[in-house]
Amino acid sequence: MSDKPVIIIGSGHAGVQAAARLAELRWDGGIVLVDQEETAPYERPPLSKEMLKSADPTALSLLRKDTFYRDNNIERISGRPVRTIDRAARQIELAGGVRHSYHRLIIATGSTPRRLDVPGADLPGVHTLSSHADALALQKALTAGSRVTIVGAGYIGLEVAAAAAARGCDVTIVEFRDRVLSRVTSEIVSRHFESLHRSNGARFVFGAGVRAFEGDGRVQRVVTSDGTSLDTDIVVVGVGVVPNQQLAADAGIACDDGILVNPHCQTSDPEVYAIGDVARCLRDGEPRGQRLESVQNAVAQAITATNHVVSQSCEVKTEVPWFWTVQHGTRLQTAGLRHESDDIVVRGSALAGKFSVLYLREGRLAAIDTVDALKDFVPAKKLIAAGAALDPARAADPSIKLAQSQTDIAQ
Ligand SMILES: Cc1cc2nc3c(=O)[nH]c(=O)nc-3n(C[C@H](O)[C@H](O)[C@H](O)COP(=O)(O)OP(=O)(O)OC[C@H]3O[C@@H](n4cnc5c(N)ncnc54)[C@H](O)[C@@H]3O)c2cc1C
Repeated sequence: MSDKPVIIIGSGHAGVQAAARLAELRWDGGIVLVDQEETAPYERPPLSKEMLKSADPTALSLLRKDTFYRDNNIERISGRPVRTIDRAARQIELAGGVRHSYHRLIIATGSTPRRLDVPGADLPGVHTLSSHADALALQKALTAGSRVTIVGAGYIGLEVAAAAAARGCDVTIVEFRDRVLSRVTSEIVSRHFESLHRSNGARFVFGAGVRAFEGDGRVQRVVTSDGTSLDTDIVVVGVGVVPNQQLAADAGIACDDGILVNPHCQTSDPEVYAIGDVARCLRDGEPRGQRLESVQNAVAQAITATNHVVSQSCEVKTEVPWFWTVQHGTRLQTAGLRHESDDIVVRGSALAGKFSVLYLREGRLAAIDTVDALKDFVPAKKLIAAGAALDPARAADPSIKLAQSQTDIAQ
């Protein structure tokens, strides 16, 4: 029976989880998953990690086996972008003009790498990394001895830098700010990862933007903001992403650097939900809300939205956001959201290569970064969720379990 179809636009981490959760909740009104890509839904994290390290095209890391969709009556429409949402008629229109009616709509269109608006940005040899096709192109381009310039020392830029170095490329990283991962972590973690990359042969140019990419037919030089010219064979631009919100904005749904949603993931049209990278969730006390780019957030929001579609349940489960990256075999795991003004406690030794950085806000654990110190991660997530107050001296001592450094503070 498909008299109340839920259409999901986008079959990335959020969209596939939404379809899976609807099936789990025994939604029998019809589940339709639409994506513009031809490929079966796949995971994105391996694209900048395992896949780039090898010269051989690696099989896709699928989100679900092919049989999963058939067994759960999930109809997949692939290779077809959704062009418009007609909210009055409760229909979507695919490229080519075919229209499908929905009972509820879930937008899970993800994000697109931000492009640099400079001369030469479209030259062959200038890459971004978001899809499997992008990863295949980059995998092919990273040949031993090639000079690779990476613009942006965020997660993607650094993961690509590590893969390129492992493939024998000559790596230069150009970063606008004065340290790596500056948007997401503190100085001590940044410096640790900087030295990891330096010891694997990478060079850094800090405090520099890109003025132009130059070359005859393909990129050959990166000209930085101070006029320095860097000879290069390949460029990878990793300067953040922009949410794929145009479809919603064109349909008159409220957007502001993301589709605005309430804690149930409902947009300004209560019959339309948005989840994952594209959604900006507005909660009490957060003036601009939050848009998070992580698998954990995509999965959590998919569950929240589909629970609401099925039962209109008012309970909103808030999870501690978390993220991971692996570079040159070193694993950074982050939980919670840090603020610049948080007090910092270092647990363990950065010199020994295994440590955690705790972020305390008014004495309570608000966030943590663990660097090859996974044993702190799970207890820290629980302490963050509980808003636990920690004694900084005990928390700094790795011989004391993190949970045993809790203290009482007046409410
Ligand atoms: C290379 C890479 C490495 C990453 N590594 C990590 C990591 O280590 N840890 C982590 O937590 N996160 C990581 N991320 C981020 C994580 O992958 C994203 O946060 C997550 O994929 C978001 O899920 P999503 O479903 O919102 O979007 P996506 O997974 O991007 O899926 C969106 C889908 O919507 C489709 N789509 C867009 N517009 C339309 C349209 N109009 N019609 C039809 N289909 C459309 C797209 O083709 C895409 O398939 C990484 C991302 C990338 C690109």
